[in-house]
Formats: sequence, C-alpha cells, structure tokens
Amino acid sequence: GDFPGVARSDYQRVWNSISPSPAGLLGLEDIEVSCATRKDIKTISYRRDHLGKNLSISYDKPLTIVRGVAQYLYSDTGQAYLDCVNNVAHVGHCHPHVVAAGQKQMGVLNTNTRYLHDHITNYAKRLLAKFPEPLSVCYFVCTGSEANELALRMARAYTKARDIIILDGAYHGNTQGLIDISPYKHDGPGGSGAPSWTHKVMMPCGYRGPYKGKDPQIGKRYAEEVGKVVDHIKGQGKRPAVFICESMLGCGGQVILPENYLTTAFDRVRAAGGVCIIDEVQVGFGRAGSHFWAFETQDAIPDIVTLGKPMGNGHPIAAVVTTPEIAAAFNNGMEYFNTFGGNPVSCAIGMAVLDVIEKENLQENAHVIGKYLIEKLRPLKETFPLVGDVRGLGLYAGVELVVDRHTLEPAPDHASYIINRMRDHGILLSTDGPLHNVIKFKPPMVFSRENVDRVVKVLEKILQEDCLQP
Ligand code: PMP
Repeated sequence: GDFPGVARSDYQRVWNSISPSPAGLLGLEDIEVSCATRKDIKTISYRRDHLGKNLSISYDKPLTIVRGVAQYLYSDTGQAYLDCVNNVAHVGHCHPHVVAAGQKQMGVLNTNTRYLHDHITNYAKRLLAKFPEPLSVCYFVCTGSEANELALRMARAYTKARDIIILDGAYHGNTQGLIDISPYKHDGPGGSGAPSWTHKVMMPCGYRGPYKGKDPQIGKRYAEEVGKVVDHIKGQGKRPAVFICESMLGCGGQVILPENYLTTAFDRVRAAGGVCIIDEVQVGFGRAGSHFWAFETQDAIPDIVTLGKPMGNGHPIAAVVTTPEIAAAFNNGMEYFNTFGGNPVSCAIGMAVLDVIEKENLQENAHVIGKYLIEKLRPLKETFPLVGDVRGLGLYAGVELVVDRHTLEPAPDHASYIINRMRDHGILLSTDGPLHNVIKFKPPMVFSRENVDRVVKVLEKILQEDCLQP
C-alpha cells in the first residue's frame, strides 16, 4: 500500500486503526511500540503515584499542552486547540502586556503588604472603582478558595452567627470549610453530606427546577425558598450568618439567575441579620457582557464579593471586597496577614489585566460575541432532541443534554462523548452541572465570531453521528 511515512498527529488514531500493530510479530506489548502513548502512560502513572490519584485529567485521550496564545492552546505535537473553556486566561493565554508587567515587577521587587507600595494602593483604587457603593474595602488573597474562606470569617465576625444558606449544586472552593458549603462536593462521591449549620436551597433553574421559564415572578418564587430557610433557622432560635451564591451558577450547570432572585433573597436574609456574599470567582471581570460584575445584572448589591480565577490571567491573585462596616467588625484585634496576597508582582499583573480588558474592549466583546454564540447554538434545540436547553449570558453559556425532553432524564454519557469528539476536532470544552450533562462554554474573552462559527459547525456535525441518535 501507499502509506505516508509522516502524518498529522491528529490522524494518528486513524492510521493506527487501519495498520496492524507489529507488537505481536515482535513479541512486545502494544504499548511498547507506540512512542507517544508510552510517554503519556508514563506521565499518567507518575501523576497517579506521586501527585495523587484524585487529580483528574481531561479527555479520554489526554493532552500534553505546552504553549498558549490568545484563545489557542498548542500540544506537544504542535496541534492547535481552540480553548472554549478556560475562563482563567481571561484576556487570552500569555497576553504579552500581562506577561511583561509580571516580568518587569519580578525583576524589581516582590515583598508583602507590610511595606508601603504604590502598586497595592493603585490596584485597589482601580478595582474598587468598578464596584458600587458601599463596596469600598478590598483584601487581597491568592485563590478563590482563600477569598471565600476570608469572606466567611468576615461575615461571621460581623453577624456573630454561624449558620450558612447555600445553593444546591454549588461549589465555593477546596478547603474543608468550603467543602462544607459546596453540595457539588459534599453530596458527591467521597463526600459526607452537609454539616448541621449549612442549609441548602434549590437552584433557581427555570429549566430543571419546579418553577419553569423566565417570568419575573419565577425569581421571586425561588427566592422565597431562601426565605423559608431563613424562617427555619429563626425557628431553631438562631440567626443566619450568611447567604452565599454565585452570580451565575457554574458547577450548578451554567444556570443564569432569574430576574428578581438576588434582590428578593437578599431582602429576606438581611431582614434576619444575615450577610449576603456573592461569589464572582468564575464569572467576574466583564464576562457577563452587559455589566462588569454578574451580580449587577440582578440590580443587587451584595455585602461581600469574592473574586479570583480571571483576575491575574493565570497568576494566582484573588480578592474580597466588602463594606467599611463589615471590614470594621473584622478588625477585631487579630492581625490579618497573607504572605503572598497583594504582593507587588500580583498587583502589577492585576492592573495589566484591567488595562487589557479596557483597551481591547473585552467586556463589549463578551456582550456581542456571547449573544452571537447563543443565537447560533439555539437552533440546535430545534434539530436535535438531545439538546434540551441552551442558556447563557455574555461569554458564559451552557448546552444541557437530555435523553428525554419530558422527563428531563440527563444525558451525561452523550455529553462526555461530545466533548471528546470536539477535542478530536481541535476544540476544547468541558461538561458540568450536578448531573454532568451540561456542555460548558467560558472561553477567553478574546473569542471571535469566527471561533463561534467553527465551534457550532463542528458541534452540529458531531450531533449527527449515529451513536447520538435516539
Ligand atoms: N468559587 C467558584 C465559583 C469557583 O468556580 C471556584 C473554582 N472552580 C472557586 C470558588 C475556588 O477557586 P480556587 O480553585 O481558585 O481556589
């Protein structure tokens, strides 16, 4: 036959499937004749043995990624992948302005907040200018988990209460305290349920929840569930310390909050003396498109906001923003110190990220391209019964897959199949939601119209594959 000596690495599986393996003839294991696979297997087994077995690896055929530029990632074989899911690389992978800011400050000084430095105050000023009053005090930390932990400490110092109201399906971070308030983890494999001081309310999901659709009354009805829990806590002779909620529900399955939800829930919680925390770790910094912070789309002003992931475009910087009143209560005599939080390098990077968002109009891009993405995805619902719901706001969208549109039986295996096939086509996506049946879009904010066209075209092609038909 006429076999090429060299082929594109993404054709490797095809050539392997039609070429008999020489392993049998040579008396070797299959794995021993495939260099690429052998290297991957070694890496995977080292990770399992020495980095911990519960680190997950994306895709059935894992990727070794060695470089990133804007919305693209490149594998060790030089294959480009369109990144539709890394919201951390907010202004684009390795944005030169952000990289230069970090490199420059690394060469000059990196210390901590015990010295005065213009970067920390200048960055705080720029960040706080993005918030409505009375959110005017900022604490810098390194990760979203640290931000949420600190927010809980502040809220408890302020309210002198303990009980926390959380949303079903939520994830707020990886510490013990946050696993306790993250049903996504404590109700899942290996979890041991919620402690007595956490109180779960249903997700305000107009697709899967008991109140369907988008009517403004629906938000109020879901918020009344928060009210019921507040009453329950009061009935036990206690007060709620905290209501914590993401402003778009990520691990909950890309759920966009119904109108009036936050304002109504906040009223109920505050009337009982509780503090309202909004977790913007995943969705902040213009991703919602119409607003810089996703909570603003609800016309609600939280008492505490936590930030993270996109804030440093990959550099670990995060923050808690709160009111002077809560900050004053937290200043109870115990020093607050964070070795790395707010260091000059992190602040230089944080400022550079804000520069790029502003200079490149990325919030506007999220607004326009996000709308276009939904417009292009929505018709898939008409053609493919598997596509139960398409939802999103700005560059944050979800496609929920169901086996049956009446019972809403989820289709997690189909979702997993699709993201693996998309990967074969050079497009990176992930699944999420408590039922693992939502295809998740949260690309770098430089995502373009052409990127949307390509993703939707390939998705449509895959949805036609035989094994996905009813
Ligand atoms: N809150 C939300 C909503 C998140 O999505 C995450 C991370 N997935 C966190 C908090 C925790 O952030 P980190 O992993 O940076 O600690």
